[in-house]
Amino acid sequence: MSRKRVVIAGLGDSGVLTAIRLARQFDVVGISAKPALVSGQELGWRLSRPDEWARANWIPFDRFRALDRVRTVHATLTGVDLDARTVAVRGDDGVTSQEPYDALVISTGVSNGFWRTPNLQSHNEIGADLRQAHTRLTDADSVIVIGGGAAAISSAAQVATTWPDKRVDLYYPGERALPSHHPRIWEKVARRLDEAGVGRHPGHRAVIPDGFMCDEITVEPVQWSTGQPQASADAVLWAIGRVQPNTGWLPAELLDESGFVRTTPQLQVPGHPAVFAVGDVAATDPLRSSARNRGDGILARNIRAEFAGKPLRSYRAPKRRWGSVLGVQPNGLEVFTPKGQAFRFPAWSFDRVLMPVIVRWGIYRGVRDNQPINLAP
Ligand SMILES: Cc1cc2nc3c(=O)[nH]c(=O)nc-3n(C[C@H](O)[C@H](O)[C@H](O)COP(=O)(O)OP(=O)(O)OC[C@H]3O[C@@H](n4cnc5c(N)ncnc54)[C@H](O)[C@@H]3O)c2cc1C
Repeated sequence: MSRKRVVIAGLGDSGVLTAIRLARQFDVVGISAKPALVSGQELGWRLSRPDEWARANWIPFDRFRALDRVRTVHATLTGVDLDARTVAVRGDDGVTSQEPYDALVISTGVSNGFWRTPNLQSHNEIGADLRQAHTRLTDADSVIVIGGGAAAISSAAQVATTWPDKRVDLYYPGERALPSHHPRIWEKVARRLDEAGVGRHPGHRAVIPDGFMCDEITVEPVQWSTGQPQASADAVLWAIGRVQPNTGWLPAELLDESGFVRTTPQLQVPGHPAVFAVGDVAATDPLRSSARNRGDGILARNIRAEFAGKPLRSYRAPKRRWGSVLGVQPNGLEVFTPKGQAFRFPAWSFDRVLMPVIVRWGIYRGVRDNQPINLAP
């Protein structure tokens, strides 16, 4: 009997982990607009220390030992034929071809600002983007960060600690930021922001200029719909969580009213047992949390069960966000639980234990040494 073929549409954080779990048993084809895992995580670290960030978060697919059996296709997904069970992909030569599947995993994520994009890019283009944003902040004496989520907070904290001479101000709409996290987390994070010298401005809701997609660092003064006087800085970073699902290639029948992929608790698309979804694109729960809660594990198990005609398991989402907020700091990495407790990996353990043992072996099952990626122009 020929092996079943699983197509993973989108090889980001969730797609890579799903491919790794399935590669031994099935013919796995991963389709990706990037030639590497380019994580959408840790915006502040990426902007302030891009070389370091790249070593942990920009990993060419051929570095993952567990992806050796996976065929990766560097292309853009442009459509799906649910009856014929094929997806259409367009390569950088503009030629479109079909990839057949027995099971399809939709993990195309979301677009967010300039740091998470669905466009086809080479390594050089990814490096140029990283460099451009870093240079923009290097050259600024004052920085405004707008937003109250983890991306905004980590950016403000990391810019302030990397460049203590810059004036850094964080503006957010509520009385407190991090509304989806446990309240205790905000208390700790607010203290860290104060220690880093970040000016905190609660109760400020920015007016988004007409047609602006919040996808570039701007220089114009910012107006507030909450009535305060306008604010100015040399660089304005918009991290207001305006995410767009990367689902333009899918038919509307698979999507909810906001354009995310509808899923059952078993991570299947209703009415299409061969189609699954995971990660930020999947409407699993109000926080769409299956990426950080390792939905790839349940998903891989359910694909095996579906092929074998066995019962599927359900994904259960925590009610609150958790994880790292400030990102890697000179004194280590602080991670928060859904109940608001904090634990810290000290700085020495990051390169010696956390990355090589927990992340590279434990999570990714072996990553060959990453070549230093040249970020110089
Ligand atoms: C192990 C782990 C730990 C995490 N820890 C935290 C944490 O501490 N704190 C926190 O806030 N979050 C954490 N997260 C979650 C993280 O913030 C995001 O939820 C995660 O990056 C989303 O992954 P994704 O695969 O859904 O999307 P992405 O990683 O964005 O991947 C989507 C991929 O699909 C590609 N793509 C899109 N459209 C197309 C197309 N048409 N054709 C081809 N390719 C396309 C994109 O270019 C991208 O490469 C964690 C996630 C994981 C897996």
